[in-house]
Amino acid sequence: MLLKDFWVPKKTKSMAEAEALNFRAALGEQDSFRPDALGIAECVLDALIGCELVVCDDSEMLGVEAYTQHIPALGTRLFVKASLVARLQQEHPDPRARFTLAHEFGHIVMHRGRSETGIPSTQMRMAPARGLAAANQKSPYLPAEFSGETQANWFASEFLMPKHLVRECFSAEDVHKRFNVSRRAAEIKWAELNPQDQNQDYFKELRKILK
Ligand SMILES: [Zn+2]
Repeated sequence: MLLKDFWVPKKTKSMAEAEALNFRAALGEQDSFRPDALGIAECVLDALIGCELVVCDDSEMLGVEAYTQHIPALGTRLFVKASLVARLQQEHPDPRARFTLAHEFGHIVMHRGRSETGIPSTQMRMAPARGLAAANQKSPYLPAEFSGETQANWFASEFLMPKHLVRECFSAEDVHKRFNVSRRAAEIKWAELNPQDQNQDYFKELRKILK
């Protein structure tokens, strides 16, 4: 999860989501509401994908929570801040830290052989700020379907909140609690699956304004 975005081969949102579900299936976590993101990073990634977890002192991470690096001689490594690991080891693991790790799982699964770092690679073209890349469809910023960061966020959202389980929930608040994700992430997912609720909110707001 870096400030720079990078080009990757085109993938639609539903393609990234399908990869997240396949990854869950490979982990045997198809129907679990709260897969243990830290446990997966610590024990499973290496065995399943050959990706080593490296926990770094916060001062070495230059303000970045986590990133994935691929160097041919060393393979794929996931670097995470020690304080992020501590937030995941709490009795109630921090939802944002879980999303950060799930985002990295997206890079590891979908963008293998590419780094999030500025290490020169003939395959990598860096884009400007990540936020711009997600929102902007015009050159020189990345269209969402070619954006490594956007694809990793799509993956993370579906990995943490698969649609078939979200459909068992009653509200965004219910999603937030059952999946242990942030309220914001839960609201976005809920709105995607329940556009009619969005419209109701919209009409409620409109009625308030028109009163
Ligand atoms: Zn990223």
